Amino acid sequence: MSRFFSEKYKDLKAYVPGEQPRDQQYIKLNTNESPFPPHPDVAEAVRQESSRLRLYSDPECTELRKILAERLGLEPDMLLMTNGSDEILNFAFMAFCDQNTPAIFPDLTYGFYPVFAQINQLPWKEIPLQPDFSIRIGDYFRAAGTVFIANPNAPTGVALSRDEIEQILRENPDHVVVVDEAYVDFGAESCLPLLRKYDNLLVVQTFSKSRSLAGGRLGFGAGSPELIRDLNTVKYSTNPYNVNRLTAAAGIACLQQDEYNRENCRVIMENRAWSVEKLKELGFEMTDSLSNFLFARHPKISGEVLYRKLKERGILIRHFTLPQISDYNRITIGTKEQMECLVRTIKEILEEKSA
Ligand SMILES: *Cc1c(COP(=O)(O)O)cnc(C)c1O
Repeated sequence: MSRFFSEKYKDLKAYVPGEQPRDQQYIKLNTNESPFPPHPDVAEAVRQESSRLRLYSDPECTELRKILAERLGLEPDMLLMTNGSDEILNFAFMAFCDQNTPAIFPDLTYGFYPVFAQINQLPWKEIPLQPDFSIRIGDYFRAAGTVFIANPNAPTGVALSRDEIEQILRENPDHVVVVDEAYVDFGAESCLPLLRKYDNLLVVQTFSKSRSLAGGRLGFGAGSPELIRDLNTVKYSTNPYNVNRLTAAAGIACLQQDEYNRENCRVIMENRAWSVEKLKELGFEMTDSLSNFLFARHPKISGEVLYRKLKERGILIRHFTLPQISDYNRITIGTKEQMECLVRTIKEILEEKSA
């Protein structure tokens, strides 16, 4: 830390992204990216748009919002496009929390939430998950703050039903409930259909996982026009051109080929079911994940050792050092071939250990 760094950030613990190694080719199952490239039309749209890079991007993302609104059955003024969904989450902390309105979220969830609270100097409260990693919805009734729920949750993959989230919405009429649906396209129920009924709901989604655009950085928030107006006030006070031209063009092409994305999600869910079965045969215990990852532990090998041994053999998974989950690893679902290789390699590691 330099002597110039603001006092107010002296305790700030920045978010630590998953490894993006450049030293060798890994089978990369550590950051929940899609194993499939974007549709070829995306590259073509980006190439064409590059001739217009001289000009600022459209701060309203007019065309992209129009297409997305049609797809989701919403109005364009219920959408705000952002630089990844991390940005809309940060905007939500800025817009809807303050000293008297803490951010409220589970003690085990997306690691960025406490960071957003800290950088904005906001109070936050963590509510423990149940021992089986599920969320007890009653814990969020009359919450006295802005609720953030990742659904399905990260890194556990466990999801609430839409009905359960609706109860949380109903029990918090005077607070915003943010539902982070980064993984919703892999089998959980979206809360988008509740948007016209609840003015306190903000649904956050991303193109990073189910639409193969993690490197493009595109996400969005969906809410009542009033909530979206507030979030726009924050956006226009920080970065009006938050979605660049290439990313907006990529997003439009991506939506025009959404059947391709849906098919990829279907394959990932199929590979997930296959991987669950094989890993259970090898003795793993795991949560019932509705995401593009598994959250798994093995009674005979620690999470850390398994992570390390897989890395030595060219496979990256995500290990967390948090004491309560240090037995666990998060394993992104890849292609069938990648998952076959993972299962084969784990089998070797376990055999080697018991030999
Ligand atoms: C990946 C992820 C995000 C953010 O992804 P972006 O790439 O910024 O869109 C948000 N929430 C959760 C729970 C995630 O796992």
